[in-house]
Amino acid sequence: MPREKSSFWSEFKEKTDQNGKKRFQCKHCSTEKAMNATRLLDHYNTCLARLASQEFNLPISSDSN
Ligand SMILES: [Zn+2]
Repeated sequence: MPREKSSFWSEFKEKTDQNGKKRFQCKHCSTEKAMNATRLLDHYNTCLARLASQEFNLPISSDSN
C-alpha cells in the first residue's frame, strides 16, 4: 500500500466555486478541474507548464511512488 495519497494533489490548489463544489486549480497553469483523481492525475502528467518547469521529473502513477 502506498503510504500516502499521490503527491500530485499538492500540485493543485483546492478551491470552492459559487455552487459550493470543490475545484482543483493547477498551480502551474491555473487550469481548473473537478475533484476527480483520474482527471487530475492525467492533467498533472501532461501539464505543459509543469513539464516546462520540471523537465527532470518523470510522470508518476496513482499507486506507486
Ligand atoms: Zn497545469
